[in-house]
Amino acid sequence: MTKRLYYDSPDMHEFDSVVESIAPASAESPRPAIFLRETAFYPTSGGQVHDTGWITVGGVDSDGERLRVAEVSETEDGRIVHYLEAPTKTPTKAPLAGAAVHGSVDRERRRDHMQQHSGQHVLSAAFIELYSMPTVSFHMGEDYCSIDLATPVVSAQQMVGAERRANEIVFENRPVRIRYVTRAEAERLGLRKLPPAERDELRLIEFADFDVTACGGTHVAASGQIGSILLRKNEKTRQGTRVEFVCGDRAVRMARRDFGALSEAAALFSTQLWDVPEQIRKTAEEGRLLRKEKDDAMEQLAESMAVADLQSAAEKNGRKIVVRVFSDRDVSFAKLFAQRVTRAGTPAIALVGSSLGSPGIVFAQSPGAAGSSSGSSAGSSSAGSSADMGVLLKQVLSPVGGRGGGSHDFAQGGAPAGSDVQRILQQAADTIEG
Ligand SMILES: [Zn+2]
Repeated sequence: MTKRLYYDSPDMHEFDSVVESIAPASAESPRPAIFLRETAFYPTSGGQVHDTGWITVGGVDSDGERLRVAEVSETEDGRIVHYLEAPTKTPTKAPLAGAAVHGSVDRERRRDHMQQHSGQHVLSAAFIELYSMPTVSFHMGEDYCSIDLATPVVSAQQMVGAERRANEIVFENRPVRIRYVTRAEAERLGLRKLPPAERDELRLIEFADFDVTACGGTHVAASGQIGSILLRKNEKTRQGTRVEFVCGDRAVRMARRDFGALSEAAALFSTQLWDVPEQIRKTAEEGRLLRKEKDDAMEQLAESMAVADLQSAAEKNGRKIVVRVFSDRDVSFAKLFAQRVTRAGTPAIALVGSSLGSPGIVFAQSPGAAGSSSGSSAGSSSAGSSADMGVLLKQVLSPVGGRGGGSHDFAQGGAPAGSDVQRILQQAADTIEG
């Protein structure tokens, strides 16, 4: 087993050691791996993410090659593996077993991990103390961390309550002690959770007079070093509720980012930060009213245009045919107009297009418009009864490369950009009139 220097010296970032063995890069593992006699590098475990840093061959003052430690993990038999960055070339001074090396752990990254991980201990204990909600797992991400609580729901009030209690413990700057006990002793102490029974000696982390738990991670020396604990959102998971949080420097950075976004929103509304939600509600309501007013106005406009066009349209075979191209209105207005034309009471056919943007075409006829014509002139030409809008649309759009379709009384489609919409409509009118 590799001796873990971080167990008793979590603040140690520089250390000397000796190479025990090396696994060169291979097809399965493209990164060389180094095993040391002892290490201060923390391997990914218990929810805490691994350290990164450097290993210098030959010791700190040597001119030996500096090897980048990209990932650290532990093997099942308790050895720690330092994976080096995949080399672009074979290291010229690769260490050999027995070589002296100097290790340097990235300080900022470790401090961040210690803040998040220690904050998690305090937060989990706060949820137990206040609401009897046990933590079942912990996740440390790039941006934020989360704990999964064994409870179906955590209210907004409980979020604030746990956050306040956890920060109280931070502000009291309680010492954090590391000690080792036997399993039997640990059971008597009533720990939050005991790790699976594989080792007899347990490493306990104790936030004075607040929480004791068995953990192999790295922790701050006193709770004040956590800095602050900020709870974010919570969400339901399969087994309970996930609570997101950030500690220390992450809490400051995230609050800074939120403040930036909120300030930008406030400036857009020319208002104070805390008035932004109210402004958004007001703006959304105004938008809703304006859309409604616009819809009403469009319907009135379509209605009056339809009435005017029906008056001037000639009647043939017992129905009026209205042909109209809109160059300044979209196809949804064309549709509205066609509906008004065909539902005005007079049997009518509307052949309407929009040339605004990509050309759109709408064909509509009054329900029964064809029937009224064939009924009044029974036995005459069947042109009236054959006016199927869907068929007609396909008939005029196919030759120009357009697409569309619909039913007997209503059809809609589009023509390729640049098409002569007026001509397409006229062809349809000619077809109907025979
Ligand atoms: Zn821990």
